[in-house]
Amino acid sequence: MSDEPAPPCSLSLPDRPRPSWDEYFLKLAMLASERATCPRMHCGCVLARDRFVLATGYNGSLPGTPHCTTDGCIVVNDHCVRTNHAEINAICQAAHHGIHLSGATAYVTNMPCTACAKALIGAGIARVVVFSDFHETLAERFFAESRVRLDRLPVPEREIHYHLEQYSSARPCGANCEH
Ligand SMILES: [Zn+2]
Ligand SMILES: [Zn+2]
Repeated sequence: MSDEPAPPCSLSLPDRPRPSWDEYFLKLAMLASERATCPRMHCGCVLARDRFVLATGYNGSLPGTPHCTTDGCIVVNDHCVRTNHAEINAICQAAHHGIHLSGATAYVTNMPCTACAKALIGAGIARVVVFSDFHETLAERFFAESRVRLDRLPVPEREIHYHLEQYSSARPCGANCEH
């Protein structure tokens, strides 16, 4: 064994800047939206405080109930009501785990609808970050009245790519893999 320090690692990071914390959590929200079960809209939400993820959510049916994708949407006034919206599901997840949301930031892929904006405010959310607007919502009005800060980020890359060959621990399964 030598006491010599190991030579510098020759592996290089992909040629791109690291995402900011806001972009990081917003991309996590985009990732969560991939789990959405309503074909009419895919929305994701991440609730974070002090750079720590408290809860995540996507628009989906109540636990144990049919999905829009299997049983069809339930449309009332041109909106599907079978699913809870991403923000509500994230708040519900926090409630399940006894996590308070006071002072947290909500990262949402779309501007919240009026009902979700009110729920976020009521839960104690202090800041909301979105990159996409949503029509017919009073969210901005209620955020302003409640002094909840609203920030719009530029739309992140529309596709999130993973170059597995750059992760030395990620290897395709072998020929005998059952996955
Ligand atoms: Zn639906
Ligand atoms: Zn909503």
